[in-house]
Amino acid sequence: DIHNPEKDRFRDIDFEQQLRPLSFDDFKGQEKVVENLRVFVKAASMRNEALDHVLLHGPPGLGKTTLSNIIANELDVGFKLTSGPVLDKPGDLAGILTSLENNDVLFIDEIHRLSPVVEEYLYSAMEDYRIDIVIDKGPGARSIQIDLNPFTLIGATTRSGLLTSPLRARFGINCHLEYYDVEILSDIVRRSSKIINVSIDTSASYEIARRSRGTPRIANSLLRRVRDFAMVRGNGRIDLDITRFGLKALNIDEHGLDEMDRKVLLTLIEKFEGGPVGLNTLATAVGEDTGTIEEVYEPFLIMEGFLKRTPRGRVATKIAYEHFGIAPGAWQNA
Ligand code: ADP
Repeated sequence: DIHNPEKDRFRDIDFEQQLRPLSFDDFKGQEKVVENLRVFVKAASMRNEALDHVLLHGPPGLGKTTLSNIIANELDVGFKLTSGPVLDKPGDLAGILTSLENNDVLFIDEIHRLSPVVEEYLYSAMEDYRIDIVIDKGPGARSIQIDLNPFTLIGATTRSGLLTSPLRARFGINCHLEYYDVEILSDIVRRSSKIINVSIDTSASYEIARRSRGTPRIANSLLRRVRDFAMVRGNGRIDLDITRFGLKALNIDEHGLDEMDRKVLLTLIEKFEGGPVGLNTLATAVGEDTGTIEEVYEPFLIMEGFLKRTPRGRVATKIAYEHFGIAPGAWQNA
């Protein structure tokens, strides 16, 4: 089999692992967040205490897992990783919690997807480092309290709007990750190309950065694909020409918009005459839930000037029309 998606998926994970910065110094961008985290990490280390629980929110691929890893490295403690949907029963969580050593970091990805029972179970663990577990079954069943080692929970979410307030209240440190600008993304691309041992022109690293939707994960994966074109179609070096050639062959949008970005904008333009249209109506028309549109897609489209939020609803901007080569108001004359 030439194409094996399952194998590809694992190769991707290896690739991401290889490119992950391991210290604050290596982590580019998100200056404010990093600056604060450095202080909190240092203070916790000086007191030899567990760092306060941390909530990281922001769109996928911006470095939440990476930062959590770095926090554990900088604290010089162990790191365990799990995710909301994986923690099915309180017992799953208890198993992990009781395995944590003093001041370890437990990372829970997609924490908004914890089941309510598991979430509730987490409260006492976060607050008092203590859990109740039920032993035996039937009439002999009883619950005993277990003390845990102090630990830091780092929760990551793309959808902070879905977090319950009791859970949110238990995080002492709350950080929002922003999309990266082109300058920093191109630094990241250059750093990654060094690691994977390929030479790249500055103009090419900018081109990849510009088309990565403000997202390091996308930048790294475009770099990897462009490297293939450079090896097979070029001389191995990544220059601007081979980059443009590769990105065109891969059908990567000039601005790095992904399929859902394009769908949102085109729906707005073609079905709703450019808006204004309410969020609910727009979400239904593109078949995505309102929260995901609002927290994952819109922030990028707004930042890049493709979409506006107005009191009467969402509006496609002139830039959006130009991007698709559609004349504003064209349908009205038709
Ligand atoms: P998230 O957990 O937010 O989805 P990750 O932490 O998994 O994102 O990051 C995705 C990829 O992007 C990783 O392979 C990592 O190497 C890279 N990356 C993310 N942020 C940065 C950064 N600030 N500097 C360098 N590389 C980064």
